[in-house]
Amino acid sequence: MTMQPFSHTQVIDDLKTLKSLTLGYAFLNGTYDTIYEAYSSYLKSFGSPHLKAIGLSKDQKTCLHAAYEGGAKKYGLDWIPKVRDVLVGSCPMCGNSAVGTVEHYLPKTPFPEFSVFSWNLVPSCNSCNQKRGSKHVNGVKQKLLHPIFDKYILGRLKLVTRFDTSGVVTEFELGFNELDFDPVEQSRIQAHIMICIDRRAFKLATNVQISTIAARVAGKKEAGWRSIIEEELAIMHAANLGYGWAASCLRGLLEVSQTQRSAILIPKLL
Ligand SMILES: [Zn+2]
Repeated sequence: MTMQPFSHTQVIDDLKTLKSLTLGYAFLNGTYDTIYEAYSSYLKSFGSPHLKAIGLSKDQKTCLHAAYEGGAKKYGLDWIPKVRDVLVGSCPMCGNSAVGTVEHYLPKTPFPEFSVFSWNLVPSCNSCNQKRGSKHVNGVKQKLLHPIFDKYILGRLKLVTRFDTSGVVTEFELGFNELDFDPVEQSRIQAHIMICIDRRAFKLATNVQISTIAARVAGKKEAGWRSIIEEELAIMHAANLGYGWAASCLRGLLEVSQTQRSAILIPKLL
């Protein structure tokens, strides 16, 4: 319950799509084998950002991007618009409690060849999609966590909001259960967080969550706040709705001392 693993809910035949696209668009005639090989490499390397783009022409790029935007049934692409509406609770890429866009795991500008393939398309929220988009203009350097390929990591990942109450104003940032991962996994997760999390959206959502919890504990004894927060977190887990950042905030509030918890929540009671 965090940045979530994701599976497409329907069977998608990417190769059938590729076949009809390369027959349907004149510019794509004869490209089936090249794109097929590129996609095989994508699958074998689990979406490695170090794949070499196959160098499609501008017209070929335009065709593939148009096919993606159009989501045409005749090419078997009518599943794409449905990904936008899929109910996954929170964004598989960042943990924000919204989806609504479709993310190209390997961006479609440097890699138009993967524009319409199911293993490269996942639901995503608008804010993190835009954040990554601006960084990916010149390609992709880091291997982000892949919502389908990296199920093993994502299944163990718990986001934890880390609070710093030493200053006048409480500061916080997004962390995770570091100790459950080896150093290589840790640095990948850290890089993912750096690249994907829209800090402004995270800050807003966290402040909302702090206020929500403050309202829940208002009027109760401070010594009991911890168990109220535990209950809230248990409810979120039971609902399994992927309250990414909300649950993260609660975990963070449980990690700090009672004094710190009070320092975070009391200003919101006023
Ligand atoms: Zn997101």
